[in-house]
Amino acid sequence: MEELLQEINEPIADAHGVRLLLWRDDLANPDLPGNKARKLKYNLAAARQQGHHTLLTFGGAYSNHIAAVAMAGRLFGFNTIGLIRGDAPAEGHEPARLNPTLAQATADGMALHYLDRSSYRRRAEPEFLAEQLARFGPAYVLPEGGTNALALPGCAELVAEIRQQTSFDALAVAVGTGGTLAGLVTGLAETERVLGVAALKNGGFLKAEVDALTHLAAGRAFNNFSLHTDYHFGGYAKYSAELLGFIQQFQARHGVLLDPIYTGKMMAGVLDLIGKGYFARGSTVVAVHTGGLQAWAGWGERFGE
Ligand SMILES: *Cc1c(COP(=O)(O)O)cnc(C)c1O
Repeated sequence: MEELLQEINEPIADAHGVRLLLWRDDLANPDLPGNKARKLKYNLAAARQQGHHTLLTFGGAYSNHIAAVAMAGRLFGFNTIGLIRGDAPAEGHEPARLNPTLAQATADGMALHYLDRSSYRRRAEPEFLAEQLARFGPAYVLPEGGTNALALPGCAELVAEIRQQTSFDALAVAVGTGGTLAGLVTGLAETERVLGVAALKNGGFLKAEVDALTHLAAGRAFNNFSLHTDYHFGGYAKYSAELLGFIQQFQARHGVLLDPIYTGKMMAGVLDLIGKGYFARGSTVVAVHTGGLQAWAGWGERFGE
């Protein structure tokens, strides 16, 4: 386990007296890495307990969550159905036209169906979900990104795992839906904090999301977290030469590949905040590598290597 915690020596951190560590959750469970697996853990237990044999979920065509659900289904013996935002691949070309994420999901046994944008927008409406269950049969429904109340305890466990290896003042994590951040929030001790770095533009709504999630899972809101919404590099899954340059340099310096949607932004944000004196001298900051590396295959296809 020891090697999951990696020292990141950066001149900017030295200059500000900050000890920066990276928790390699991308390596924590090779079969099912990263935060999407953490969020699934107690949902899979609930699905099994409720007697379900099928998982039904939603996602974009390059979604880490779709990839994780498909893989979890294969590993733990669930049928999986993925309702994918957007158009089906051109007729007669499947599976050749599937992007790498969806090709792997199919190989893992996931049945894919496509929802046009207006249907996809209704993905959380009870009436729409009932229609989908009528169409596909009984299933345990996982929301987009796997974020629900049961996603939080699996993420809270990560805090305890990190604490076994090091004491820390702050964690840092990339934020999409806010489920992972909310889970970490509920797992912190009183002296610990967590920073969330938003991967999407206009992340102003995220604080209310995190509060709502911690209310569901722990019965209250917390004030031990902060949200940083200035490191989206143009928005969710947008191409940014600056961000890609940072990711390349980070890999050259530390031998760690970050992903272009989430963890690259998180690490760029943490280093920028260190440089701005955000952390007190003597602080220990643990950045969490939440995985997401499967996204690179689709990224290369969309934007070139
Ligand atoms: C989904 C994802 C996140 C964000 O998790 P949320 O719980 O949606 O906030 C962060 N990092 C990676 C690699 C992810 O795949």
